[in-house]
Amino acid sequence: MNQKNSSVLFEKAQKFIPGGVNSPVRAFKAVGGNPLFIKSATGAYLYDEDDNQYIELINSWGPMILGHAHPAIANAVREAVEYSLSFGAPTAKEVEIAELITEMMPSVEKVRMVNSGTEATMSAIRVARGFTGRDKFIKIEGCYHGHGDSFLIAAGSGAVTMGNPDSPGVTKGTAKDTLLAPFNDLQAIENLIDANSGQIAALILEPVAGNMGCIAPEKSYLQGLRDLCTKNGIVLIFDEVMTGFRLSKGGAQEVYGITPDMTTLGKIIGGGMPVGAYGGKTEIMDYVSPQGPVYQAGTLSGNPVAMSAGLAVLKTLNENPEIYQNLESKTQKLTKGIRKNFQKLGLNYTINQIGSMFTLFFTDSEITDFETAKKSDLELFGKYFRAMLEQGIYLAPSQFETLFVSDALSENDIEQIISASYKALKEIH
Ligand SMILES: *Cc1c(COP(=O)(O)O)cnc(C)c1O
Repeated sequence: MNQKNSSVLFEKAQKFIPGGVNSPVRAFKAVGGNPLFIKSATGAYLYDEDDNQYIELINSWGPMILGHAHPAIANAVREAVEYSLSFGAPTAKEVEIAELITEMMPSVEKVRMVNSGTEATMSAIRVARGFTGRDKFIKIEGCYHGHGDSFLIAAGSGAVTMGNPDSPGVTKGTAKDTLLAPFNDLQAIENLIDANSGQIAALILEPVAGNMGCIAPEKSYLQGLRDLCTKNGIVLIFDEVMTGFRLSKGGAQEVYGITPDMTTLGKIIGGGMPVGAYGGKTEIMDYVSPQGPVYQAGTLSGNPVAMSAGLAVLKTLNENPEIYQNLESKTQKLTKGIRKNFQKLGLNYTINQIGSMFTLFFTDSEITDFETAKKSDLELFGKYFRAMLEQGIYLAPSQFETLFVSDALSENDIEQIISASYKALKEIH
């Protein structure tokens, strides 16, 4: 495959942008080769600067659940642009989207819009601290909550892919207030609570982990966390930046029937525009300025163009709930096909799948947390990634990422991915 224009662009990009990319995992550092420069995308297909077509399983890391250049979203944005790009003043659209979010996700009684998932989690922790008057919080190893200082400790996603889950530049003072526990381990949480009695403001996690690869919570884990937080006055925060509006209309919290105190959102909520949000119980959210004392602000927050895109996606999902069944059955078809490939080739790798999220881990161990995820053969993953790309299948360039199926992916695309996967697996063994 000719990827000459991408190579030339990457060469130039490295002169002017650190590492040539504006977000680390976009570089193919963990898998080898140069990143592709993307010119356009429609439905389930990406086109690079050399006009190669790829079937897409990243979907901008989650937001493009309806596929690329979806007419409802494109039209909403075009219409909004005519009214000016930003006012820095309240709009009818942001009230409409806030109301719709609270309807789709009832644990969110009030919501504040921000510009990224990073901002959402940073703000949620600040509010939880203000609300409880406590400093520490519990983070789960391998969960990723954006690049806020206090989260860059045992962080998943790009941080672990690049080999720096603990980032330089985070002060000891900051790090000491972040307490760590493994995913799916209730006892570890109990121990932390005992050892830091009355000092823990919040517990934040991805209810379905997606940033150390896809890992579902074990039965009763989330309920156990809910009970421990209630008992100890700890604010339970579900980071649903990835899972919100993806696993169901009401996110992972609806799938598992657990009500968090606060929720952070992003990705799908902006339909591809830079948007995040945090929300939760009224009594907590009323601590946010100007209602309450916890300061949080944004010049472009609730931007009217971004709100229009988000609103178009959320409305489409809300009005067509069958999309979720379709996504699930497509994803199951895909993972079943890949498992069949394993059988034919005498391989025994682990695939974790829930809803339209899945990860193929290159290990035969069961993957339940960050430790087990790290057993994967990263070199083999890199070979698989390159063999798939060569056949026009665009995967996330890291073993520690979740792949996403979009509503635009057709039965034929699924067949193509399965047969490419067979060839790739055969070639690399
Ligand atoms: C992507 C992600 C974030 C960070 O969102 P950005 O918009 O990249 O800042 C936070 N939490 C989770 C769970 C995510 O998947």
